[in-house]
Parts: sequence; C-alpha cells; structure tokens
Amino acid sequence: MRILRAGKLFLTVELGEMTVTMLSDGETTLPARFLLDEDDKPLDSAALTAADLVAGELRLPVRAFLVQGPGGCLMIDTGAADQWRPGLGRLPEALAEAGIGATEITALALTHPHADHVSGLVDGDGGLAFPAAQRLFVAVEDLMVVRANPRLIPLHPRLMPLEQGDGPIRGVTAVNAPGHTAGHMAYLVDGRLLIWGDLVHHAAVQFPSPRVGWHHDDDRDQARASRLALMEQAVEAGWLVAGAHLSDPGIGRIERDGAGYAFHPVTRG
Ligand SMILES: [Zn+2]
Repeated sequence: MRILRAGKLFLTVELGEMTVTMLSDGETTLPARFLLDEDDKPLDSAALTAADLVAGELRLPVRAFLVQGPGGCLMIDTGAADQWRPGLGRLPEALAEAGIGATEITALALTHPHADHVSGLVDGDGGLAFPAAQRLFVAVEDLMVVRANPRLIPLHPRLMPLEQGDGPIRGVTAVNAPGHTAGHMAYLVDGRLLIWGDLVHHAAVQFPSPRVGWHHDDDRDQARASRLALMEQAVEAGWLVAGAHLSDPGIGRIERDGAGYAFHPVTRG
C-alpha cells in the first residue's frame, strides 16, 4: 500500500492495480451517552477519558470510499447530503477536489441504509447523483429499509440484492458484519483492505475497548460480536481497515494492544 494523492477532503491509496479513495463528507458531533457499556449503560467519565470530544460531544467524521480498478469504479456509501446534521454533505466537494466526476462511477454499494450513508445517492433536485451507476448493491436483509425510504424511489430499478461473498465489482468481496443493522456489510478490497462501514463509531474508545457498544446498533450483542470477530480477523490476516467514522484519514492499520486493539491511521506524509 502506498498513498498516491491526498487533499483536504480525500486520500487515495494504491493496492496493486486498484485504488481506494477516502472521500470526506464532513464532520459532526453526537452525545457521549451514545457509547454504551455491556449493560447498555452510558460510559462513566473514567471510561471516556480517551474519547475524542468537541465541546463535550463525540467527534464523528463521516466518510465514503471509492474503489477504482479494471472491474469498474465502485462508490461505497454516499454521505448524509443535507438530510442529517450540520457540517455534512461535502461528498460532492470531496469528489471535485479529487478530480473525480460523478459520471465516472459505474456501481454503488451500501454498508447499510442509514441517513449518513444513503442520502448522497440523490442530488439536490431529487435525481440520481451518480446516473452512470447502473447497480446499487444492498444486503438482502436491508433491502426493505431502502425500499421504504421515499427519497430513494429513483434508485429502485437499480437495486441489486447482495450476500456474503458477492463481488459488486471484480476485486471487491462482500463480508457479513451484522448487528449495526441486520444486513450491515463490509467490503474486502484486493484481499487486503477491509472497508467496514459502521463497525466502529468512535475509534478513540472502541479500538482499546471493542466491547463498547453504540446507541444506534440495532442488535448490540450481534454488533459487538461482529466487531470483535472482524478486528481479530483483520489483525490475523494483516488487512488494512477503513471505516465511515474512523479518525482522519479513515484508513489505517490495526494491531492488538493489551485487552483491545490500536488503530494506526495511514499518514498523509
Ligand atoms: Zn454511520
């Protein structure tokens, strides 16, 4: 892996004949009480000492990832547009900074259908933000949620059910990571970089303490099991990891550290 290019809102790494570009959708904050212990109680102040706080709230960057290779140009998640919280919706700006046109994207995939991941599929006029992408891959278990979102009606003809092991484009493989939603899906690129969506919401706390859960995990026990299993698998396999809410620039190495793990972001150099 090497860093090919970087800007304020993007960073591109090279993996053999493929590249992965982190695209920042901006940054917001959420209440610290969203981090929960194993009894589903908010963490006490001692457990929050390592947290990355902004005015007492958890820093929450939002990211999408673009995978480019001989098999096509796949956008994984699309940010919050103007549908969620202030400070977000910068994906088009990030693409422009990276010099990537919206019509270059040939396929779309979701890690899960929450507002900060699906909203950028549609532009400000309600049309398709990525009109050349003929397919939108969504895990079977999460299809109903996508179909129930009125904003996403223009995407219905392009929906493609996705299961573990499927490849939205050549060189990318879907990996089950259920719990945050029933169909929450990670994507392994070139067998060595795992884009894991919302497996982790607050890196500063959930790498050292991966048993800490998140208020918006649909099934917290299942989400915890997925987090522990995939973190361990990433270490064992030597995978790089990338996530929608990981610390800047959202891509890095994972190591075992004491009872938990440590995240080492790739450096912009
Ligand atoms: Zn999210």
